[in-house]
Amino acid sequence: MSNESAFLPFALPDVGEAEIEAVADAIRSGWVSTGPKVKEFESEFSAFLGDGLHAVSVNSATAGLHLSLEALGIGPGDEVLVPTWTFTATAEVVRYLGAIPVLVDVDPGTLNIDLNDASARLTKRTRAVMPVHFAGLAVSSTELEWFGSLNGLEVVEDAAHAFPASDGRLPVGAGTSAATVYSFYATKTMTTGEGGMIVTRRPEIADRARVMRLHGIDRDAFARYRTNKPSWHYDVVAPGYKYNLTDPAAAMGLVQLARAEQMRLRRQEIAAAYTSAFSTSLLQLPVPAAPGAVHSWHLYVVRLPEGIDRDAFVGWVAEAGVGTSVHFIPLHLQPFWRDFGDHEPQDFPVATREFSRVVSLPIFSSMTTDQVSRVIEAVTSALRHLGGGE
Ligand SMILES: *Cc1c(COP(=O)(O)O)cnc(C)c1O
Repeated sequence: MSNESAFLPFALPDVGEAEIEAVADAIRSGWVSTGPKVKEFESEFSAFLGDGLHAVSVNSATAGLHLSLEALGIGPGDEVLVPTWTFTATAEVVRYLGAIPVLVDVDPGTLNIDLNDASARLTKRTRAVMPVHFAGLAVSSTELEWFGSLNGLEVVEDAAHAFPASDGRLPVGAGTSAATVYSFYATKTMTTGEGGMIVTRRPEIADRARVMRLHGIDRDAFARYRTNKPSWHYDVVAPGYKYNLTDPAAAMGLVQLARAEQMRLRRQEIAAAYTSAFSTSLLQLPVPAAPGAVHSWHLYVVRLPEGIDRDAFVGWVAEAGVGTSVHFIPLHLQPFWRDFGDHEPQDFPVATREFSRVVSLPIFSSMTTDQVSRVIEAVTSALRHLGGGE
């Protein structure tokens, strides 16, 4: 499997024997659904980010984004600002609640939400904004606070790429946004297989999300076995969802959390190797984090020079045994969202233009030095042969 000459996939989870043992122990304990490991994972996760934070685990970031908007009372007729440069989950959860995602163009450098363009798309019905920390480069918490309070909007951060990350002032998740949501999907910076986490300073949001993640029941299974009320008692207070994380997943998350900074440092090393190797090429390289800020380096996205066709580049690199990907196909170019918002490509000029030339290179923490070199060689040879060389 780990044959050095085998095809290098775009992404692989960095999991080992410690994760396998933790999951096996969780299964042996008998808590195969939500139990004590979930509680422990939530308290360790919030402690990692700072004081005064509530963490509510869920079975995906999509579920977490949905519950965050639900807890804020977002509903039919409301509008929510969403960058077009994201995964469809960010926008789809707005529709789950009958509200309207209003797509926003991105900054040409960072590919993060352009708050000037967001201002231009405000209406009387705008209730919230959902910034995405694309690739793991934090959107400024100062600008988000300012934009939210100036316009009376709730801020729900899609931090699926941003664990751990910081804008230099605050870790992502430790600011004053209504909620910040992380993903523990297989390819993200830490994984529980499937999973996610909501982090908030507002106890009423945490309480509502805890109830709604488990059928609208007022307390979870763990608490039920530890109160004075009879163990069979529970109250249904709302028609909730089935979004709870399991103990085996949380046990894996605890090991990954303990390794998160070490895994981030490895990705930072890989990013530095790419940046140094490609600094004299015609590739446009990712914007680095500001001094004092922390980039999670979930993705390393290069932009091809004019005259190099992306499909030809991706094909050449794949021929050399290296997998790549594209993040993202902007939502306004996806059939559903294009028709839903009646969008034309020119409504989002930056995203439309940049989309045609982005390629994501492999950057996962279990990559070996040889594999990093293979990526560099494959990219260099593609540029040389396709015309974008030095
Ligand atoms: C992966 C991802 C999500 C969804 O995460 P899940 O845990 O799979 O639900 C949401 N937003 C962005 C930007 C993502 O990359």
